[in-house]
Amino acid sequence: MASTNAQDIPTPDPETPYRPRQPYRFSTQCATVDNPSLKDQYGSSSVPIYQSATFKGVNGQYDYSRSGNPTRSHLEHHLAKISSASHALVVSSGMAALDTILRILKPGDEVIAGDDLYGGTNRILAYLKTHGGVTVHHVDTTKPDSLLDYINPDKTAMVLLESPTNPLLKIVDLARIATHVKERAPNAVVVVDNTMMSPYLQRPLEHGADIVYDSGTKYLSGHHDLMAGVITCNRDDLNKQMAFVINAAGNALSPFDCFLLLRGTKTLAIRMDRQQTTAMLVAQMLDCLGFKVHYPGLTSHPNRDVHDRIAHGYGAVLSFTTGDKALSERIVGATRLWGISVSFGCVNSLISMPCVMSHASIDPATRAERGLPEDLIRLCVGIEDPADLLDDLERALLEAGAITLTAGADSHQRFVRTIPSEGTAISRAVQKLTYNESMGYTTGREVEDREWFVSAPGKVILFGEHAVVHGVTAVAASVDLRCYGVTTPRHDGKVSVHFVDIDGFTQEWEIDDLPWDAVTPVHVGNAHPDVLDSKLVDAITTRVLSSEVLEKPSARQASIAFLYMYMIMAHGGRRPSFNFSVRATLPVGAGLGSSASFSACAATALLLLYSRIQLPAQPAPTTDDHLHTSHEGRRAIPPALAEEVNRWAFVSEKILHGNPSGVDNSVAVFGGALSYTRAGFSRKPGMVPIQGFKSLKFLLTDSRVPRNTKQLVAGVTALKEQEPDFVEGLLNAIQHISDEAQRLLADPELSREVLLASMSALIDENHSYLVKLGVSHPSLEAIRSKTASPPYTLSTKLTGAGGGGCAVTLVPDNLTDTSLHELMGALSTASFVPYLTSVGGSGLGILSPYNQPQRLATPPETPREGEGVDGPELLRDAFVGKATSEVSAWADSLGRWLFV
Ligand code: PLP
Repeated sequence: MASTNAQDIPTPDPETPYRPRQPYRFSTQCATVDNPSLKDQYGSSSVPIYQSATFKGVNGQYDYSRSGNPTRSHLEHHLAKISSASHALVVSSGMAALDTILRILKPGDEVIAGDDLYGGTNRILAYLKTHGGVTVHHVDTTKPDSLLDYINPDKTAMVLLESPTNPLLKIVDLARIATHVKERAPNAVVVVDNTMMSPYLQRPLEHGADIVYDSGTKYLSGHHDLMAGVITCNRDDLNKQMAFVINAAGNALSPFDCFLLLRGTKTLAIRMDRQQTTAMLVAQMLDCLGFKVHYPGLTSHPNRDVHDRIAHGYGAVLSFTTGDKALSERIVGATRLWGISVSFGCVNSLISMPCVMSHASIDPATRAERGLPEDLIRLCVGIEDPADLLDDLERALLEAGAITLTAGADSHQRFVRTIPSEGTAISRAVQKLTYNESMGYTTGREVEDREWFVSAPGKVILFGEHAVVHGVTAVAASVDLRCYGVTTPRHDGKVSVHFVDIDGFTQEWEIDDLPWDAVTPVHVGNAHPDVLDSKLVDAITTRVLSSEVLEKPSARQASIAFLYMYMIMAHGGRRPSFNFSVRATLPVGAGLGSSASFSACAATALLLLYSRIQLPAQPAPTTDDHLHTSHEGRRAIPPALAEEVNRWAFVSEKILHGNPSGVDNSVAVFGGALSYTRAGFSRKPGMVPIQGFKSLKFLLTDSRVPRNTKQLVAGVTALKEQEPDFVEGLLNAIQHISDEAQRLLADPELSREVLLASMSALIDENHSYLVKLGVSHPSLEAIRSKTASPPYTLSTKLTGAGGGGCAVTLVPDNLTDTSLHELMGALSTASFVPYLTSVGGSGLGILSPYNQPQRLATPPETPREGEGVDGPELLRDAFVGKATSEVSAWADSLGRWLFV
């Protein structure tokens, strides 16, 4: 082991008595690696890595790297120099350094240690207690006198101190304690863990410590690219003892890591200057916002005067509390620039919660006893631009609900802390975010870790299509053909979609690769702005979607809508990794509102995963757990929740359709039937639910002729311009139909027979006007004539934009099943696709999370495509495997659905 001494590199003698040289300052010493007793044969500027286990020859300076290595000697010499030490030893980690030091102890010895120590230090001391026969007293070292009772001249062999402590930054008067110990137990060794400060800011050997150790993993290396421990001391006997342990146990630092640590050390001063300047800004910002901040740089910090006496700076670690552990977790999760990580001292800024990370090895009871707050957040400041760090932290505080923007007395907007107080006075923002817990989903994790199964109906326009564009009231109702969506957790940092009924389309994305830089999040409790964020839509379209996706219009638009909501809803650092599988039992793109029902499903799933909506803790008791279509008495989803879903479903519809009316998503969410009148015309605008709507049976027949809605709408507008009176007459007539239909459907006195007969007449009449507007199609007329022909004599009209798409046929109650099946057979033979459905049924549905079989609740693994998963069966596997025609019945059989 090379003997090292700070005096080896004296400041050169003054060249002239008139201009005497000052001793080299710390940063100069740091940057200057020079060891006169170990000159490099080639004059290499950087110390070479002697990556050699052995050295040839006998009686040479080195023989075996466990005992000594030239790269290590250079490093040890350099570290001794900057630590005001005669000796330095480097080992494989900070804990290895402490372990080496603790081997000085013998069974029966007593150790006095602080009560706010690094968790690993506690762990090794606890081990010594149980396995080494050593007694350890933890005392509050911030009060030097508290040690007095424990100092025993015969037994106290070591006093172990840290200042400032980690993570509460408590200041310990190292000098005073060292004096106390020396006076009362001269043989006791005073050991200081100096990791938080580094030799640049504090050199405890100058204040009476016998041994100082640093985790070189931290500031000395500065880049988190190695683990190392550094031991320094001035006593030859102690150095000899510890060097013996290192040689015997073989825990010395490897040559390559010595090289890296030496390189890192050269920039220690410059890094630390930058880091602690920024740390002060961060501490001041948090302090101004009203958080309880632990940082010795703040004038209010306890024992700051003591720190000023023994140290040369305040370091770059600080911590603060928020008053609420969950809030702290959200803050930590919401930062982007601050990496969530244990450790500190790196050029990159880090954020952590000691109680769940670095100090988790201390049991909760002991943590509580030692006053370590569970909501404590530790910040380790790096060298990034201070403005970016402050901005990122401020955003995280805002996103987590820890601060809000408010107007000050001078009417300037400024951030203030939202104080989580007791009982119901908890701030609004915090309340919203913590609401989840009161709802039985104790943490976001649980919400993300279960499979959510949602569904929403399609819609049919019964009366008033096209005319609605010109201010006429349209009547729309939900159909019993639905979209279904299942979210299944993944645990691989990806989010994916599987649109089973759009040619089995699947796509997955790395969450971190999504264009998060383009997102302006919509904070919890806020509504999405009226206008879509085109920057985000563009970023998703151009930076995320592959050319293969871009070529598939339905899947492309659905993917954009899904990712848009996924990204813009993200909050509190939560970016759940999951798969969203979708089934559609209604034809896609046939004018039956498939996009709106998809939108409602996607919005609901995402709102649930992000805990932006919560189901009531106790769903209303129901009489029937298995019936799907009957919704009365099963409306367990509260209106406020449905409204939130509807707002987001409308956002998604905008992505899918450009300029939606809002009818489709409203029907998808609220179900039943409604009338809708556009704003900007003579009639009162708005959407009005048709109360007491009676469920009616319809045959929906897909002509399978694709249509161009925009062109058809434009055609009617052009006709109106050419023949205004003619079109106006038709529009008035359609308005009468809508008015009459609403009256009939809501009339409780009307007999079923009269209702059906009247509806049939209105259907025929409305269709005839649509023909006059030029929006029918031969295929639709063919369906009409088939259904109108004997023995059926049913009434049919086109629905939606026409020009293809679907036709609706009212099915009277007295039509026999045989006739119905014959008719459906005939339509199928003519290459149409008939669906039997009832209209006016349930809106949004969520499979109740209560009392679900365990297998549906917490899938254990990321499901892999085409592979069975060990353990419980995933809901998704059955979901995607069902034939389209089986999906509804299977979904109903699963248990209790909650409906709007
Ligand atoms: N001392 C303090 C104050 C620490 O924070 C750490 C690690 O975080 C250590 C010692 C242990 O160092 P290492 O992880 O290099 O073993």
